[in-house]
Amino acid sequence: MNFIFITLFPEIIKASLNESITKKAIDNSLITCQVYDPKDYLNERERIDDKIYGGGPGMLLKPEPLKKVLDKVLEKLDKSKSKKIYLSPKGTQFNQKKAEKLSKEENVIFICGRYEGIDQRIIDHYVDEEISIGDYVLSGGELPALVVFDAIVRNLKGVLGDESSLEQESFSDGLLEYPQYTRPEEMALGKVPKELLSGNHLEISKWRKKQMLGITALRRKDLLNEVVLSKEDKNLLKEFFDELDS
Ligand code: SAM
Repeated sequence: MNFIFITLFPEIIKASLNESITKKAIDNSLITCQVYDPKDYLNERERIDDKIYGGGPGMLLKPEPLKKVLDKVLEKLDKSKSKKIYLSPKGTQFNQKKAEKLSKEENVIFICGRYEGIDQRIIDHYVDEEISIGDYVLSGGELPALVVFDAIVRNLKGVLGDESSLEQESFSDGLLEYPQYTRPEEMALGKVPKELLSGNHLEISKWRKKQMLGITALRRKDLLNEVVLSKEDKNLLKEFFDELDS
């Protein structure tokens, strides 16, 4: 899968590409990443930003340099297999489902805004989708692009050492993950729950499911409302709350 970042601050992106899972995915040729800076496409003495028509505070990224970069990037790609995403607080909120869907694309192009954002004509002409990573305003689209990128890359075959970890993570089946423990079994901060030490797989998975249901009910009622609960799930949920009360 190929990723292209269009940003005024390439170093923010490059720093992240050189670390951990992303670096491994690049080294193992599972993904390719390219970074383009619209400042490299300016005419002599042209500025990258300009005042906003109609007035108001701040500056906007000019459309021409962005158009030049996008045309250059797209000329090398199959347009029907290239998803152009503008990171924007006005976009649809990003989630795990969206990450999984995007992981099926061949090329993803991230357009990172700065200042007050980008000229609407670039959005109208090029952008397939505007994505927000949450209801807050950041200074630029680089961190949102990296968030979306990281969540996509985790879903690609061969990227995670143990792919079963994807299936057990939060949101994988609409629920939040169960609590996890490692050695020591016992310490001043407390003991590992006895069910996890039992060696009985059925008991372990029952305990984990109960925690997933209970924690999701406590923290994210919205997610739980989307899940169809079996009779056994309802009993586990009741057990979870009974244990909380006792
Ligand atoms: N004037 C814009 C508005 O009110 O919607 C905010 C511009 S923001 C200061 C600069 C850039 O950061 C945006 O163009 C966008 O690329 C990025 N950005 C900021 N917050 C974001 C968020 N929550 N999700 C995605 N991108 C965001």
